Amino acid sequence: MNMTAAKEPSFRESVDLMFNRAVALMDLPPGLEEKIRVCNATYTVRFGVRLRGQIQTFTGYRSVHSEHMEPVKGGIRYATGVNQDEVEALAALMTYKCALVETPFGGSKGGLKIDPRQYEEYELEMITRRFAYELAKRDLINPSQNVPAPDMGTGEREMAWIADQYARMNTTDINARACVTGKPPHAGGIAGRVEATGRGVQYALREFFRHPQDVARSGMQGTLDGKKVVVQGLGNVGYHAAKFLNAEDGASIVGIIERDGALVDDKGLDVEAVRNWIGRHGGVRGYADGTYVEDGATVLEHDCDILIPAAMEGVINLSNAHRIKAPLIIEAANGPVTAGADDVLREKGTVIIPDMYANAGGVTVSYFEWVKNLSHIRFGRMGRRQEEARHQLIVDELAKLDQHLGDAWTMSPDFKDKYLRGADELELVRSGLDDTMRIAYQACSEVWNSRDDVNDLRTASYLVAIDRVATSYRAKGL
Ligand code: NAD
Repeated sequence: MNMTAAKEPSFRESVDLMFNRAVALMDLPPGLEEKIRVCNATYTVRFGVRLRGQIQTFTGYRSVHSEHMEPVKGGIRYATGVNQDEVEALAALMTYKCALVETPFGGSKGGLKIDPRQYEEYELEMITRRFAYELAKRDLINPSQNVPAPDMGTGEREMAWIADQYARMNTTDINARACVTGKPPHAGGIAGRVEATGRGVQYALREFFRHPQDVARSGMQGTLDGKKVVVQGLGNVGYHAAKFLNAEDGASIVGIIERDGALVDDKGLDVEAVRNWIGRHGGVRGYADGTYVEDGATVLEHDCDILIPAAMEGVINLSNAHRIKAPLIIEAANGPVTAGADDVLREKGTVIIPDMYANAGGVTVSYFEWVKNLSHIRFGRMGRRQEEARHQLIVDELAKLDQHLGDAWTMSPDFKDKYLRGADELELVRSGLDDTMRIAYQACSEVWNSRDDVNDLRTASYLVAIDRVATSYRAKGL
């Protein structure tokens, strides 16, 4: 990757710089400011697993940034680049993210230094179970203290192994399933968790476009319909965001950047077909319906309306920021824009919807899953049929009116079916997520538009989040 490492602050330094920029505009006592900023603890574990006839040693981390609310929450990432600096930066972002979307958690994050593609499934299971064992025995996996979730390189499968490992170690814990979120539906998961982060990106963009004043700041106008989108990383987050924006909002996906290059087509790429191609061939190379670009990162600079970095941190940095053409960047990944690039882009007038807010859909639905696990009942189970019965009463009355009025008035053909059906778990989850994303955006937009000293959405979201964390610390007597 083309990075100017010498001048660029590290990921954690970037988060600190952005934090400092926000607290400079607040009136916090210096001691409290420092307390919020620092990472409380980072545990490093090295463990051996016997694989392929020999013992292999793995290094993992679990960092706890702030325990102003417990449990603390944050994903576990499997990638070769995992290091202490990165997990600490990601844990800090989790603290602010949870405060911003009002999920009652402190911030945490974990990582294992591994390339999961180099291992067979049964090997990954052994490694994951051993890692989970090391964390669980120190309460770094625990329904009331620390609840991991998926992140880059992990998904439902790994979360199910972790949940099972915890349950084996805590056989009488009735809330064992709440020790981790992002589990598959048959293992205590919740409908809509896999799509949640990408869905949240869609809801965030919809809410942005409901604020014409904010849209005007980016130099754009109108709605999502017809907007040209470039997405980097067609993994869990990028794929769902691109798919929904295209299929439900009429946006056109003109660029897809993956590890091995990028595809470009100004008429729009077929997201599903590209995803299937990647599934079969391991990358985008060779896909016929689009122009292949070997140096994928250059497509970040492609002419488009909305750029969605959804792969990894640091991809928009001092080396390419000045060439980014998109007037709007939505940070689906964590930390894709470095602090240096953020300065350059703000100067250019690019609007950035920051990671802390943009990808909060994952933790929001994780929160719903955790609540579901603790309450031991699926959302909607008690009320759905009762809701349907009450709707039936109205539909019956309307049917009488329909008969009575003859040609003067008639019920719309699909009204009855639509209105009668009570919401299932997936609809409730989407509704809760939509509400969360709207309210959080409104809080940030309010600060952005009402304060002369706040010129960007990132600073606005830090202000909202830090203020809430500070309030919570104060309430504890700190
Ligand atoms: P994922 O592993 O499912 O997908 C990542 C995708 O990016 C993969 O398709 C991978 O091939 C691609 N990729 C990796 N390196 C790349 C590179 N250099 N250039 C282009 N593409 C590259 O991971 P994910 O869960 O979708 O997470 C992506 C980002 O979103 C991460 O920053 C993660 O922290 C963040 N995030 C994820 C969630 C979640 O619920 N999964 C929640 C919040 C934030």
